[in-house]
Amino acid sequence: MTKTSFIAKQHQQNRSSLIPSVENKSGKDLINLGIGDIDLNTHPLVIADAFNDAKNGFTHYTNPMGDIELRKEIIKYHKEEFKNYEFDIDQVFVVSGGFHGIYLLFKTILEPKDEVMVIKPFFSAYLNQIELNGGVPVLIDTYSESNYDISIEELEKKISPKTKAILINSPSNPLGKIYSEENMREIAIFAEKYDLLIIADDIYDFYSFKIDFTPIYTIEKIKERTVSICSFSKNFAMTGWRVGYCIGPAEIIKTMSTLNENITYCTSSISQRGALSALRNIKKIKESTIPIFESRIKFMCEELRKIPKLKFYQPDGGIYIFIDVTETGLNGKEFSEQLLEKYGVAGLNGEVFGDKNSIRIACTIEETSLKEACIRINDFIESLSL
Ligand code: PMP
Repeated sequence: MTKTSFIAKQHQQNRSSLIPSVENKSGKDLINLGIGDIDLNTHPLVIADAFNDAKNGFTHYTNPMGDIELRKEIIKYHKEEFKNYEFDIDQVFVVSGGFHGIYLLFKTILEPKDEVMVIKPFFSAYLNQIELNGGVPVLIDTYSESNYDISIEELEKKISPKTKAILINSPSNPLGKIYSEENMREIAIFAEKYDLLIIADDIYDFYSFKIDFTPIYTIEKIKERTVSICSFSKNFAMTGWRVGYCIGPAEIIKTMSTLNENITYCTSSISQRGALSALRNIKKIKESTIPIFESRIKFMCEELRKIPKLKFYQPDGGIYIFIDVTETGLNGKEFSEQLLEKYGVAGLNGEVFGDKNSIRIACTIEETSLKEACIRINDFIESLSL
């Protein structure tokens, strides 16, 4: 009997989709455009406040729904920022990051074989998260010709009596798409027509460059059928603190929290104090983070545009660029593996985001290194036609 036989059959073949199967053999330094971890450290004010709070005794379990002061601050933030929309305290649940929140939500809502509509290309974890909770992801195509808007016709084609929810991620990972208010309204009407829950993954909302981000819950009546997933990870450069929150109908939020009492019980008290400080210092933090990414995305798009055979959607927001490499004659897997092996640049194979002809790059390094990455990508593409 091997140790593997202790593992449930359904998990025996599980592999990380984010770890490349090849190594950098280029002899050059690795330029890592792979995993989307914000390279900037958390703002010193947040670190200092969390440290002081830890010294002052915030070292215990918190309320399972989250630190009360933090939840009040979250409500205040949403009220001030987005069309005066107000939430009650029992509609806000602090979680250990967006991953955790989305997982708990699927656990809360899905009956076996319930379907969740997922827009392509999608954040890689969604499919596993739905399947791990007994559901079935139903993929919805979007097209470059129509600017990757969500087409109601496509949704109508895929609706079934089993459809429970539709998941919208804006600004999106990997594309950087921000859905317009008009497109959101169409989706809201569709969700009402078929009585669907809307799951709004809003974790990149600060990174809105071209158009303003509008949370879907601000659309009339839609708040009652929306759960928003928010996170401090990307917005506040706090990926390692593992803190985020969900806002939505009180019954759903309560069930998520009750389930979580048996999983993590509550989120780290010290991280929650850090999150409270982040919200209180929101202006300073935004100013010191977001323009850097806006400038990098702009710079990188300009550089990539000079390289032949690459096509991409100019992001409206977010921290990634999703590049179609079809014209190079390679698929996303071949392109990303050879680029890493021979030129020391790590990107991610687009297949994990639902598009096997693309790669995703994260602009989580300084512009000088982004420039060097583009030089190497260009050299790689030139070498293909030699
Ligand atoms: N949603 C999206 C779209 C993401 O890209 C990520 C992380 N890359 C998450 C959720 C989860 O992030 P976290 O758990 O750090 O909040």
